[in-house]
Amino acid sequence: MKTIHNSSLLAVLKEQHQQPLSVVNPANGETIGQVPKLSKNGIIDAIERSQVAQKDWAALPAKTRSERLQRWYQLIIENQEDLARILTSEQGKPLAEARGEVVYGASFIQWFAEEAKRSYGESIPSPSADKRMVTVKQPVGVACAITPWNFPIAMITRKAGPALAAGCSFIVKPAELTPLSAFAIVELARQAGIDKDVLQVVLGESPQEVGEIFSTHPIIRKLSFTGSTRVGSILMKQCAGDIKRTSMELGGNAPFIVFDDADIDEAVKGAMASKFRNAGQTCVCANRFYVHDSIYEEFVTKFDQAVQKLKVGNGLEQGVHLGPVISESAKANIQFSIDKFVEQGASPVSPTQQLDGLFIQPIVLRDVKHDMEGVQNELFGPVAPVIRFSSDEELIDMANDTIYGLASYFYSHNIKRIWKVAEALQYGMVGINEGMVSSEVAPFGGVKQSGIGREGARQGLDEYMDVKYLCFGGL
Ligand code: NAP
Repeated sequence: MKTIHNSSLLAVLKEQHQQPLSVVNPANGETIGQVPKLSKNGIIDAIERSQVAQKDWAALPAKTRSERLQRWYQLIIENQEDLARILTSEQGKPLAEARGEVVYGASFIQWFAEEAKRSYGESIPSPSADKRMVTVKQPVGVACAITPWNFPIAMITRKAGPALAAGCSFIVKPAELTPLSAFAIVELARQAGIDKDVLQVVLGESPQEVGEIFSTHPIIRKLSFTGSTRVGSILMKQCAGDIKRTSMELGGNAPFIVFDDADIDEAVKGAMASKFRNAGQTCVCANRFYVHDSIYEEFVTKFDQAVQKLKVGNGLEQGVHLGPVISESAKANIQFSIDKFVEQGASPVSPTQQLDGLFIQPIVLRDVKHDMEGVQNELFGPVAPVIRFSSDEELIDMANDTIYGLASYFYSHNIKRIWKVAEALQYGMVGINEGMVSSEVAPFGGVKQSGIGREGARQGLDEYMDVKYLCFGGL
């Protein structure tokens, strides 16, 4: 009996598991680990188990869910160093940044552990004497997510935190290039007492296949995606079939604007933080710089001086500011964009050097024009094209001239201008005299083709809850 049981179990496992996926360190090409892949049936089984587990999870008092999330937060913090080393090894960012991402990622678990206890409904003053009206909030059910490689921890915790706090169960498919961090944090969740079927990480035969299952399986009620606008659009179309709720955190083309009344040294500091974090591979990073004519030369000189001090290398080594980019195709795309700008008349402020492997020397490009090919593209690399402007009106038109609307930044000390520009920029987030805007307490998200929905803040929880209206009659 035992043998039969075991062999049938083996058959099921064989049917559900594909060849494992090898994970490679982009800094040196070494294989650093393997993770399991599931077949289509394996993923469907995970979804069915998630549905069963969700009922028990949602039935727990919010306080208990909150305590488990708090414990998960603490375990992530206690394991910060190990997680940061895994993260740098599979993603490439310098260790200091990886440590920062662990803390930033964990902050969403802590924030939503607190918010779990505050998912208040409301009582509505009734227009009739014999009725009472209230709303309650309920979890949407089984939620799933697809996340990118550039923030392998934070992009998951921003979604898993609110989903679990709301009482949803949660399944994530991380990027195939960076799955180790995902498996590591999910293991810590288990240790924190979060059931293995409440929070799962899966990889399938292909990202397309997982995307199709997530967006068409009837059990799944919510899909949250972070990645490119192209893939977000495919997933939204697929989700339309049974009207699934979606949240979309998509691409960006952030303008970074320096007005003539700005503190130039502060603007350079903000530009460095915004542009070169994660080797320029962030959705909110400054993609194009607009600098007023009268301060253009001073800004470009100071900016380039700061850039020349950046050290490129293996993120595990001390003193490195920029690690490798994620892949050969990413490097080729970035190089193509640089060449294209130069072909059209832009020039590097300092001489450039081709680096081996997946490393790219950071570069400031001057004399870029707004109408050059490439200004509309997400560069996703350590390249800073700097464009001149002469009037606020012209500037606003250029800054808004994009399909994207995620983050934007500007530097000015004129309060009248600050309000006018902040209101005119068609972006979900505006940094004013500030190059880094992300925080677990503030709503992160975009407008236009940068997406739908908000992550973090009190708004983040609503993405995983339905409002139910209760009407008490005959009173
Ligand atoms: P991507 O190609 O869209 O990939 C993102 C995720 O989608 C990955 O897990 C990927 O799997 C998966 N995927 C790819 N094709 C798919 C398909 N047809 N169906 C279902 N899933 C699919 O984006 P990326 O190039 O990796 O990431 C960079 C992009 O993400 C940039 O545009 C950036 O701006 C955006 N981003 C946005 C935010 C935000 O909060 N707004 C944050 C970070 C990044 P594999 O990786 O396994 O192939």
